[in-house]
Amino acid sequence: MLPLTEKDLQRLSYNEYISFSCANGTDSDVFQLMLTLDRQFMAGMAYYQGIRRLGAGVLRVGPGVPSLQWENIQRIQPTTIVAVPSFILKLIAYAEEHNIDINASSVKKAVCIGENIRNVDFSLNVLGRMITDKWNIQLFSTYASTEMQTAFTECNAGRGGHHHPELLIVELLDEHDQPVGPGQPGEVTITTLGVEAMPLLRYKTGDICQYDEIPCSCGRQTVRLSPVIGRRKQMIKYKGTTLYPPALFDLLSGMEGVKEFVVEVFSNEIGTDEILLHLNAADESEDMERKVRSYLQGKLRVIPQLRYCSMQEILKMQFPEGSRKPVKFIDNRK
Ligand SMILES: [Zn+2]
Repeated sequence: MLPLTEKDLQRLSYNEYISFSCANGTDSDVFQLMLTLDRQFMAGMAYYQGIRRLGAGVLRVGPGVPSLQWENIQRIQPTTIVAVPSFILKLIAYAEEHNIDINASSVKKAVCIGENIRNVDFSLNVLGRMITDKWNIQLFSTYASTEMQTAFTECNAGRGGHHHPELLIVELLDEHDQPVGPGQPGEVTITTLGVEAMPLLRYKTGDICQYDEIPCSCGRQTVRLSPVIGRRKQMIKYKGTTLYPPALFDLLSGMEGVKEFVVEVFSNEIGTDEILLHLNAADESEDMERKVRSYLQGKLRVIPQLRYCSMQEILKMQFPEGSRKPVKFIDNRK
């Protein structure tokens, strides 16, 4: 939880106003918010205020419930949805089951929150492609956190989230607190500007990103951030390469025949990182095994240890007691 003053609230709404403007938003848009607006979720309130400031229409439908989302899309005709990308897949699935022609709907844009839709080279990742293969809408990626009270949102060019220098100083630092160059992974370190109740000075977010400083085709000269490559403490040093779990998730989500997975990392006897992939595959034939190995070899250049297990076993690992979100990464390193 974060305290906010009146000025902080105004700053938040300004932040989302310029973010939605950056993502091609205008006062003729109608936004459908498919996210939590209460439960102390700061971003929900910020989106709502920012859209109001933009002069656009806004519909607070809340998270989940695809039937309700579609009912509102068909009735109110929003132009833009704001949603978690994996939920957009659920919307598509619901539409397919209920004969709703998604490409004839009023929705043309989606501002994607909470999950990556791009790779570090800004091409769409598996999730991003799964959405756009079926639904002809433009996706805008965003990166934000409660602590920074600022969003990095993509423009029309879709080449990373723009930095708004009036709100934040951003530095990308290596393990020795030295600035990294463009295209190099570094920890996002922020200093808030204009925040009153809880200002932060060179705060390390734990998120690893890259930046690009070439002026954007949209005319903005500010730095653009890549999607989050991973969390600093989840960095895996594996057989001479540096890896982060999201890259493995993306790889495994795009792998034919693999239905569910859990990535485990542990320390071997010489103290270095080992990766064990728990996979639930469509079948456990030798042919499948060969396919999985050659896919990993091609994409990773190294093959982690593999273990095939039943769906039941995977679900048990993904949902340990008290967990609401599926656990896809288990860190057993010493
Ligand atoms: Zn731009």
